[in-house]
Amino acid sequence: MQIFKFGGASLKDAQGIERVGTIIKQYQNEHLVIVVSAMGKTTNALEWVYRYYIENSIQKYEALQEIKTFHFNILNSLFKQTDNVFQEVQTWFNKLEQKINTTPSSNIDFEYDQIVSYGELISSKIVEHYLRSAGIVLTWWDIRRLLITDANYKEASVLFDKSTPKINQCFQTKGIHLCQGFIGGTEMGDSTTLGREGSDYTAAALAYMLNANAVTIWKDVPGVLNADPRIIPEAVKLDKITYKEAIELAYYGAQVIHPKTIKPLQNKNIPLWVKPFLAPQEAGTVVQNLNEKIALPPIFIYKYHQVLISIMPKDFSFIAENNISLIFSYLAKHKIKVNLMQQSAVSFSICVDYDERKLNAFLQAMKNQFDVLYNTDLTLITIRHYTDEAIKKVIGNNKIIIKEISRKTARLVVK
Ligand code: ADP
Ligand code: ASP
Ligand code: MG
Repeated sequence: MQIFKFGGASLKDAQGIERVGTIIKQYQNEHLVIVVSAMGKTTNALEWVYRYYIENSIQKYEALQEIKTFHFNILNSLFKQTDNVFQEVQTWFNKLEQKINTTPSSNIDFEYDQIVSYGELISSKIVEHYLRSAGIVLTWWDIRRLLITDANYKEASVLFDKSTPKINQCFQTKGIHLCQGFIGGTEMGDSTTLGREGSDYTAAALAYMLNANAVTIWKDVPGVLNADPRIIPEAVKLDKITYKEAIELAYYGAQVIHPKTIKPLQNKNIPLWVKPFLAPQEAGTVVQNLNEKIALPPIFIYKYHQVLISIMPKDFSFIAENNISLIFSYLAKHKIKVNLMQQSAVSFSICVDYDERKLNAFLQAMKNQFDVLYNTDLTLITIRHYTDEAIKKVIGNNKIIIKEISRKTARLVVK
């Protein structure tokens, strides 16, 4: 059994869906679980619907209409007007519209999940109908009833013990199964989401529960490259990397793999293929245990929109365990993830993603005990397997704010 995952970039238009059909046709006699994301930038668009809904703004209807138009345009290019896919997709949009007609509860993360989860439900319906129309026999599943999570809305954790029997019961029959990535459900039946870009993780979690032979995530790139080609166009493909290397890359922010994806696969030694959606015959990159040591080129990871926060105790005490533990308790409370930290005698600096709301709440909470300064619009660049030349290249004309070098990794905060 294999797991295939198709992301938003692959499913961004009618041609993308046709290409999924071409790929799946080659596997139609096999045991395959297909995981799909929302189409194109639908999740971002649904986040706008959610924001307007929470703000009680009438703009929520316009935002929803745009998403509808996008999907119905794709339906019009793929299906005859008489196809019942139109009715089915309309039914999902009706449910979503009914939802945004209600008054939001105070649990805004819960509300987020009830709205944003529609992206995957709708895209999977469209893919299902398209594959059927291409003669492929398959079963569509609502993963919210099978992948059981806790109620930590917006960042829900999969409850493996509860999910494994359900997943096995439904997906064990040989054939083609289709379900949604990124979403799950609580035991009470409420929709949850696993954190942005979480579909890769769904694929890995299913592979773990089903003891799959391999996972393939189909992307709009030739595989895992030594940099994001949007930033460094001459980036080269890595043919194979270890689980450990992939975890490091994802941890530092390489967008091509979601950070939680690798661990379940590593635990069961299931290889992960990252393959080019546009050239399915090409090998892509494999992530697995490797016996031989392979030489890797410098690998660049850029994180933009960083803010460097410098925290100084008001009582002029040194930065020590008690201060640091207090600072981290505030960070945890405000769900702020630290990308890099540095300490001196009287100041503790952290580099985090810029999020105005979280930052303000954090500053407000800290202000009685600490003086806090911050500097925005910074970039955090990580180079794995760095060379002097690679460091020079990324610095260019930028001003270095922090430079941190370890045996395999160089990290720079630059302005
Ligand atoms: P999807 O959501 O469709 O699965 P993503 O957009 O999440 O795909 O991931 C693919 C994108 O990741 C590519 O378009 C590429 O710009 C970006 N990317 C960032 N770092 C890398 C890297 N090291 N190798 C390949 N792609 C990368
Ligand atoms: N659709 C979700 C997102 O855009 C999940 C995913 O694509 O992995 O975050
Ligand atoms: Mg993605």
